[in-house]
Amino acid sequence: MSRWVIKGIRTGIVTTRYPEKKEETPGTSPGLPEQVTGIAPENRETESRCPTGALSREKNRLNLRQERCIHCFRCSRGTENPIPWKNGFEWAEIRNPEAVVPASLRHSLHIRVVDAGDCGACLNEIKLLNNPYYNMHRLGFFITPTPRQADILLVAGPVAEHMKTPLLKAYEAMPAPKRVMAVGACALNGGVFGPGFVTGSGVADILPVDIEIPGCPPPPLAILHGLCLIAGQLKNEPNAATGTRKGEK
Ligand code: SF4
Repeated sequence: MSRWVIKGIRTGIVTTRYPEKKEETPGTSPGLPEQVTGIAPENRETESRCPTGALSREKNRLNLRQERCIHCFRCSRGTENPIPWKNGFEWAEIRNPEAVVPASLRHSLHIRVVDAGDCGACLNEIKLLNNPYYNMHRLGFFITPTPRQADILLVAGPVAEHMKTPLLKAYEAMPAPKRVMAVGACALNGGVFGPGFVTGSGVADILPVDIEIPGCPPPPLAILHGLCLIAGQLKNEPNAATGTRKGEK
């Protein structure tokens, strides 16, 4: 018998059990800073270390705009007043609750991925969804090469000038009901690239976004969480990082 078969039998199934079982394997997510209150005035130095404006102060409360965070750790490492860090990946926010797929259709959803000018990081994480560890097929999610068969338009990148028309064409070619998923900080607000002379400030400038997945890039489990939310396979729980309920700004 081939040694690979023997190795496979010995190793057994390694595919994550998420969302059925909580996934806590180290290294599967970079995590996010926590929402903190009661920060002393001298902690302003920490706030000023944020390169993306994800941290802002409101009286004695430090607010985190998780959609801007790029997990650079500058607020938690190398500072005298680190902000507590929270592991996890369930960061997706549903913006249009009506886009959630009805129960009878949730076991076979086709996704058209559009690279609207991303740096490659988000696309790499999206690609991992098909590998044996994440195996999104077991949950009924499939990548399709054509928007004509797509239930979900998954967009990464800030929407570069040259990608506006292809993105609109892909959306128009989809059958109704159409769902738009913005993946990554760039798709949510332009990220570190936009808005600029060749990049926009996110997908919402062009299309109605139904669900947002923050992260730079979001790990595969964060994208899987978003897919499970839009498919109605997971409930609309309060967001782990901000305490807001999905669907609320
Ligand atoms: S990890 Fe980086 S981007 Fe995120 S809040 Fe901290 S300093 Fe800002």
